[in-house]
Amino acid sequence: MSGSLVVHHASTYTCSYMLTLTTPLHQLHRYKIPRVGEVTARKLAAAIAQVNDMADPREATVEDLLHYLPLRYEDRSHLVTIDRIEPGQYASVQVRVRVAGSYPVKGGRLTIFELSATDETGQIRAYWWNQRWLEGTLKRGTRVILYGLWQWNRFKRCLEVENPEFEVLPERETTEPIHTGRRVPIYRKLGSFKTRQLRAIIYHVIERLSPEAVPELLPRQTLARHRLMSRYEALVNAHFPQDETPLELYNQGRAPAWRRLIFEEFFWLQLALALRRAQRERAPKGAIIHVDDRIREIVRGILPFKLTAAQRRALKEIVDDLTSDRPMNRLLQGDVGSGKTIVAVLAMVVVIESGYQAALMAPTEILAEQHARNIKRILAHTPYRVELLTGSTKSHQKRQLYEAIAQGEVDLVIGTHALIQEGVTFHKLGFVVIDEQHRFGVLQRAELIKRGYHPDVLVMTATPIPRSLAMTVYGDLDVSIIDQLPPGRKPVKTVLRFEDARPKIYRFIAEEVRAGRQVYVVYPLVEESEKMDLLNATQMAEHLQQVVFPTFRVGLLHGKMKPAEKDEIMRRFVAGEIDILVTTTVVEVGVDVPNASVMLIEHAERFGLAQLHQLRGRVGRGAAKSYCILLSKENSSEEARARLNTMVRTNDGFKIAEKDLELRGPGELMGTRQSGLPLFRVGNIVRDQKWLIAARQEVHRLMSLTPRPPEVNDLLERIRQQPKYGLASIG
Ligand code: ADP
Ligand code: MG
Repeated sequence: MSGSLVVHHASTYTCSYMLTLTTPLHQLHRYKIPRVGEVTARKLAAAIAQVNDMADPREATVEDLLHYLPLRYEDRSHLVTIDRIEPGQYASVQVRVRVAGSYPVKGGRLTIFELSATDETGQIRAYWWNQRWLEGTLKRGTRVILYGLWQWNRFKRCLEVENPEFEVLPERETTEPIHTGRRVPIYRKLGSFKTRQLRAIIYHVIERLSPEAVPELLPRQTLARHRLMSRYEALVNAHFPQDETPLELYNQGRAPAWRRLIFEEFFWLQLALALRRAQRERAPKGAIIHVDDRIREIVRGILPFKLTAAQRRALKEIVDDLTSDRPMNRLLQGDVGSGKTIVAVLAMVVVIESGYQAALMAPTEILAEQHARNIKRILAHTPYRVELLTGSTKSHQKRQLYEAIAQGEVDLVIGTHALIQEGVTFHKLGFVVIDEQHRFGVLQRAELIKRGYHPDVLVMTATPIPRSLAMTVYGDLDVSIIDQLPPGRKPVKTVLRFEDARPKIYRFIAEEVRAGRQVYVVYPLVEESEKMDLLNATQMAEHLQQVVFPTFRVGLLHGKMKPAEKDEIMRRFVAGEIDILVTTTVVEVGVDVPNASVMLIEHAERFGLAQLHQLRGRVGRGAAKSYCILLSKENSSEEARARLNTMVRTNDGFKIAEKDLELRGPGELMGTRQSGLPLFRVGNIVRDQKWLIAARQEVHRLMSLTPRPPEVNDLLERIRQQPKYGLASIG
């Protein structure tokens, strides 16, 4: 009985009702699909458009519908006779209704619709709660398939099933059942469409779709190399599994049908990235940069310490890009504290020495200010003019800076991303470094190019990014990795503690301060209760100063303070004039005070993994043994517990990033859609990393063929026309 969907259509329906993948869903009512009228078609189009993030529901097509894959599957394929039903198991039976009717229960507040039905081997009972409408559907004499969990009713001495799935069979056997008697898809609710309605619609859509209407898009070699089934077969099977593959594999997204669709989705993305990259490499290069002995000498003179081997390698890769005639688009990855800043600074020196300007953008003002402070110090003995420009720079000062930047008098501008948003014009901008917090980067690069700059761009990530994410979000960038910490770093000892340990923690902090070290106490700042948390941090600072540590110097730092105040507090902490800094997460990224040896994180369960890792990265930067104390409530969620335990277990930022991706999923991890994270309909970059890598390799293989075969050109042409990849505009 298990379906023969694939060959079913042509005989039953005339061609005028045949669909193609590009048929708009809002016109589905024209195709004689049972119970799909104009209103339903429109609703379906709207729902599909919404999950696909499309602005216009009229763009939603049959193809989009068919990429709404089941959440899971159920095996209802084995029709059994009543005498074969095992109590306690799910099964489908085909029966004829003998008696049916509704009656009130619980004082009339509820009704039960009940029927009794037979086949040639026995009798069963089925009932539904509050479904009186079934009286009109499941009448005496109706042939029906019932699927559900069967139980033995001791009092009535018969098998029964509560709320079964059912499917009424027509008197004469012309069509096959959709919802029973086969392996059926279960869908996540789509708008107002529940699984049963959606299943019926998709069934009929597939039925009206001929294999010719689903052209194969992947090259034949690619299919063969990765042993992929055809696109048509994959779409049919992904909804109504008809192959031999165990349902378990379907449920895990590992059936061949799924694999084919996942591979294809990753393939197009990787192709788009490869194409974008190829296009960019053809773009004009802004600056001409040479490195000679004079510049090498200058760089050596600036170096405050010996670079690690990893830093040297990254610097070389960056400088090779700078001096090549292709524009640089590079991602510099490295764990917290691995020393990315100095590498960027040295690269900027090379650019400045060649007569160009450089810009460094940071995600927060505090960080921009810190970068400015550090870099001015590093470059103190050079003639370069380094300036800080942020949203809170005074306007008369700003005007002067704008002027100086436009004249080329400023060599290096450090600021927040307001730098490019506010329309600063540069005299000769040659190099942009974006020190980012995962979130921007993609946008900023686009912004720069839109404004007519083609500088070399280096994006530095604050925390490591899992490989799979790097391959999707940053897949069109070259990557340098600093996988080594500067010498002498000791891993931070991390512990998880609960409220009862507070007195002990305070004693420990006191000991550390007496030994000359400094301490951070961090409070979460959650947006909804920003005021509350601010109050917490403020009160905590007062409490610590007055009650707990009256003889120590306690400072307070939070995002709502005026820049000058923040600056002053940071300066005093750096200078060792503050022992204990109570702070919100403004210190999260980049802050660098090597003498700080303890980080106490309050309400640690409220922080994300990347954030915790960043925070912990504020200590362990000097020679002293450092500690990170995660103070949490005892009954935090399981996920929070998993995060905290990960922190206790490892110091490795790459491992933490992988775990973060696993716990939160890519969407959460990267923030908004603007992060550049593509919308995957089938693939899951955590689960399907293997296929992501396979698709990427396949694309590289195809792109490197010379001369380029016509089918590869066809692929490129096709992807240029896909608006979602945004390639058409680049030509
Ligand atoms: P991140 O990669 O997290 O941005 P930073 O660039 O802030 O790290 O560097 C962390 C700290 O390590 C800074 O104090 C920096 O001066 C120091 N540092 C960087 N490279 C080295 C090195 N090769 N040897 C010694 N200290 C270094
Ligand atoms: Mg940094």
